This record gives sequence, structure tokens and C-alpha cells, in this order.
Amino acid sequence: MSEWPKPVVVLSRCLELEPVRYNGQVIPYDFVRELEPWVTFVPVCPELEIGLGVPRAPIRIVEVDGQARLWQPETDRDVTAEMREFADGYLAGLSEVDGFILKNRSPSCGISDVKLYQGRDPSAMTKRGPGFFGGRVLDLYQGLAIEDEGRLRNFRIREHFLTKLFCLARFRILKASATMRDLIGFHSDHKFLLMAYHQQQLRVLGRIVANSDRAPLQRVVEEYERNLRAALASAPRSTSVINVLQHVSGYFSKQLSRSEKAFFQSWLEKYRNGRIPVSALTSILRAWVVRFAQEYLLTQTFFDPYPEVLSSVSDSGKGREV
Ligand code: SF4
Repeated sequence: MSEWPKPVVVLSRCLELEPVRYNGQVIPYDFVRELEPWVTFVPVCPELEIGLGVPRAPIRIVEVDGQARLWQPETDRDVTAEMREFADGYLAGLSEVDGFILKNRSPSCGISDVKLYQGRDPSAMTKRGPGFFGGRVLDLYQGLAIEDEGRLRNFRIREHFLTKLFCLARFRILKASATMRDLIGFHSDHKFLLMAYHQQQLRVLGRIVANSDRAPLQRVVEEYERNLRAALASAPRSTSVINVLQHVSGYFSKQLSRSEKAFFQSWLEKYRNGRIPVSALTSILRAWVVRFAQEYLLTQTFFDPYPEVLSSVSDSGKGREV
């Protein structure tokens, strides 16, 4: 376990941790328990932080004169200013963070799909968007691994989130004492992963580490980080992942039997159809890497982007878009 970086993840406190919801409940969420040994959680409940107790009357987002307000109907209290002040102060004070897991559909924590009511009439819901705290997270930490608990119940979204989270944590740790050699090593170890994510950005990142105009290290690292985040912005298309899987399997084409190749192809089909996670295929490839002593491939994070114990095909079955 010690070889893994420990990502820092801000977590909505009502997810598995504490009964801080408006109704005094906690949301059961196994993924938090599974992640706990591997990450450092930073729990936060914005509604508690602004002084709304537990239990409390629910709040909602209403649009008044074209402005979104955070309003508690039962008390007719407007907590917009308090929430904005808290969100800005809290988020500005985070020193190291790689990702966020936030409660979905909450007017505070939600990052999308939060109801926005037109005026104070509860039947006049017309739009959906981010909550007040979740929206600020998106504004200030764009590029980090940010998801809500609802979307993370889809295994493809979870795969992308974990891959990005651990990659960003590896880079954050490297950045603290980076040498040019470390950066080149990082780029080399992530070649296939980045190829699966974004071929064009892989080339951009390659040019940055080549540093042909001899820019100072600090500038090179900053530019690399910016472009790394761009490369990881969206989940890879399954066709790109399949291309990389096929490309890597080509390293063993002379050594594998016909039935081994057919078996691999049949599992590629299962992945293409969304029936298995990519880790099922990378495990096969990793076994071949060891068996045929392909040293260069052994260090590729594509085979091992995050701790294997976190791989799971459990899924909400809702087929959300990645
Ligand atoms: S969704 Fe956010 S604000 Fe609401 S209870 Fe959970 S942590 Fe607190």
C-alpha cells in the first residue's frame, strides 16, 4: 500500500460519516469505507458551517430578480451571503487537494442537477444546475477530480475518477521536489495512460518535457500540470482505451497462442459492451508483461492506475453519461 500516493479528497460529511443531513440522517455509502484506507478525507458540511443546526428546515435555491438565492422557506431566512462567504473562505484555505466527492442534488454541495426554483413557489422549478458550495468548487478547482456520489455509482465514471485522482496525487507529490529527470520519468510512466485519455495532449506533454527552449524547471512543471489536467478532463472514450489495449497486446503477438489471443479479443468485446471494467483487461496484460519480462511496460501506470482493491463492477445500472 505504501507505494501508492495518498490523494487528499474533500468529502461531504453526510456521506457515510455523520448524521448531519437536514433530517438528522447519514447517507450510507460503501465507497467511502472502501476508499478510506487509501486517501485522506477532509470532511465538510457547509450547512453546519454556516450555523444551520441538525435537524434543520431544508433550504433550496430560488431565482429572485434573475439572481440565485439560497433560501430556507420555513423560516424565510436567506443564507446566500453566509454560504458564499463560507465557500470562498474555506476553499481558499485548502492547501493540498486532489479531488472532491460531494453529495448530489444538494442546494449546497451539489455539482449539477440541483433544482433551481423560479421564485418562491415550490411548484415553479424550471432549471437544474450546481449548488452554492459545489458550484464554487467547480469554479476554483476545475481540473481536479470532482464528482458527486450519485454519478460515482456508475463504474465507468468511478474508474475515470479514481484514475484521475491518483494520477493528480502522484503529480502533486512529485511537484514538491521535482527535478527534470523526475518529470521525464513521470511522463514516461504515464505514456499509455495518457495515450488512452488524449493522444493530442500526450504529444503536447511530450514537447513540454523535451523543453527544447530550455525554460526554467518551475515553468516547465506548471505548464506540464496545466496540460496534464487538460488531458484528464474527460473520461477516455472506450475506443481509445481499446486501441491502447490492442497496441500493448501487440508486444506479445509472437509469444501468445491463438487461443490466448482469441480469449483476449472476447474480453475486449465485453469491455466494449460495458460489461467489465478496463481493469479486467489490464490485469491480463499485466500478467503477460511479467511472464514475458517486458521491463518497459512494467512501470506503465495504465496497468495499475489506482489500487486494484478499489476496482468494482458494481453499478447503479442507470447508464449515466461519463
Ligand atoms: S449535502 Fe452537504 S450541506 Fe447537506 S448535509 Fe451533506 S454535507 Fe451538509
